[in-house]
Amino acid sequence: MIRYSFMLFFILFARAAFRDKQGFCERNECNEDEASKQNQFDFSVKHNAEIPLTLTHTLSDCLPLDEVDGNFIRTVKSCVFSECQPTPLKKPLTLAALSLDALWNILDLNQSVIQNQEFIHCVSGGKLFAGSVPLAHRYGGHQFGYWAGQLGDGRAHLLGEYTNRKGERWELQLKGSGKTPYSRSGDGRAVIRSSVREFLCSEAMYFLGIPTSRALSLVVSEEPVWRDQFYNGNIVKERGAVVLRLAKSWFRIGSLEILTKAGELNVLRTLLDFVIKEHFRSIATNDPQRYVAFFFRVVNETAHLIAQWMAVGFAHGVCNTDNFSLLSITLDYGPFGFMESYDPNFVPNSSDDEGRYSIGSQANVGLFNLQKLLEALQPLLTQDQILESQQILREYPQIYQQRFLELFKAKLGLLENEDEDSYLVAFFLKLMEDTGADFTMTFRQLSEVTASDLQIDSVAQSMWALSVLSTHEYFTDWVRLYLQRLSRHHNDSDETRQHRMQRINPRYVLRNWMAESAIRKAEENDFSEVALLQQILMNPFTEQDEAERAGYSSKTPMWAQQLRVSCSS
Ligand code: AMP
Ligand code: MG
Repeated sequence: MIRYSFMLFFILFARAAFRDKQGFCERNECNEDEASKQNQFDFSVKHNAEIPLTLTHTLSDCLPLDEVDGNFIRTVKSCVFSECQPTPLKKPLTLAALSLDALWNILDLNQSVIQNQEFIHCVSGGKLFAGSVPLAHRYGGHQFGYWAGQLGDGRAHLLGEYTNRKGERWELQLKGSGKTPYSRSGDGRAVIRSSVREFLCSEAMYFLGIPTSRALSLVVSEEPVWRDQFYNGNIVKERGAVVLRLAKSWFRIGSLEILTKAGELNVLRTLLDFVIKEHFRSIATNDPQRYVAFFFRVVNETAHLIAQWMAVGFAHGVCNTDNFSLLSITLDYGPFGFMESYDPNFVPNSSDDEGRYSIGSQANVGLFNLQKLLEALQPLLTQDQILESQQILREYPQIYQQRFLELFKAKLGLLENEDEDSYLVAFFLKLMEDTGADFTMTFRQLSEVTASDLQIDSVAQSMWALSVLSTHEYFTDWVRLYLQRLSRHHNDSDETRQHRMQRINPRYVLRNWMAESAIRKAEENDFSEVALLQQILMNPFTEQDEAERAGYSSKTPMWAQQLRVSCSS
């Protein structure tokens, strides 16, 4: 296992510069469509026609299915899926949230479809879309560093696929829709709080431009669901909810791992060839090097994904191999968090005592997961191909660091390349770390401040995050370097720099307190704040009056400062 410390890459780099002030000073010299409309819609049931959405079932046609029938918990062998029906939720049901963007741009459905009384049942597991063959996927995974054996869709049902007018093939999946053969000791359900978080964050990540699964709808029910939220013996009755999720593919590293661990190499080859044919179109299906080419792509794209997470301060929370997509999209939103005060040791999951999945560890954990992917592919590779793949993995740190640097340079508005760029980025992150400045708003306010205001001794108090940063003794030194660097841009003005930076440094991210406030209301059947957040986070780079009034770009309110996120969901 190759080990690199990415977490410390930039920080150590910056610290070196701070070792003695003398050395440091020397360096110094030198759609007009449906989706864009507001998410306001009419929930009342009007009539009862069919839902105009017919699904295909390529997955169940092409991949081996469980030969054992029946929805009971068991160890499953020699297949990729078990056929399995969702269990309807206890009524009454409420369509609590809907993504009009996903409805129209992914499923080609007009907003009027929600007036059909079948709709709410179809998106919550009470009825099936035409053509649907519901499946639960068999996968395994390494959890917190250890092989956990069979996991699988214990509370999710893959309904089928839809190919839209743009020719994109999407897989529809329900989460929280009842027990499957993979439910182990679970009840097959998901509660309102975790479902609101998944719904809001997957949509928010999409609008931040980060590869992710999507969410179409959130349905809440009267189904009693018992949870010990903080594992302290306090079991509380909550309510069941279902999210209809969408992804081009739900396969994970663990989808392949379980087949290798079980010695089912024919199924492994069938699944891998299917994934390559469907999702890695540039790789020829008869190329003897196809598995190496596939591995190369996953290594590159995983590095890019994690760098993108870092660029918005996103910590996934549970980076197990069963939560890492083969298509390198963000999957399985659980106890994730957006870092507020800059801290490489930020851990969003209150159960992750050792901080294995801290924000600063994500690149390293990505490497661990890719190593596990390589182990899963190994039986299908020749000796030479194994050596080649190991070499690809050795290149992961550079791929990651280069992407990280590109993204952070862009966040600072830097154009072209200069030798000292990584120093300038690292220096800035070090100032943030020392002062605990807010990650999102510091970058945002740097995008909004003019170069001349940046030079004056005290940054305006309204720039609350940047003014925290400006208390650092080296802040003015950094500003001097930064302005010198900007002055070397050709054909650039301060205004263009600001616009460029504002297009990539969000003003709004789904901070934990924002989600929590919306959840508290949702649990009382008031979904207005879920709708507000959804709407604001569709345009995270644009200042919006309603968001400002709600304090979404302000300091975390006092009541929320001790909030923790549970992985119980
Ligand atoms: P997660 O932490 O949500 O990624 O889930 C890890 C594994 O636990 C997956 O196999 C899930 O399907 C399963 N799981 C989590 N919660 C439940 C539940 N309430 N009922 C059944 N299975 C669950
Ligand atoms: Mg998962």
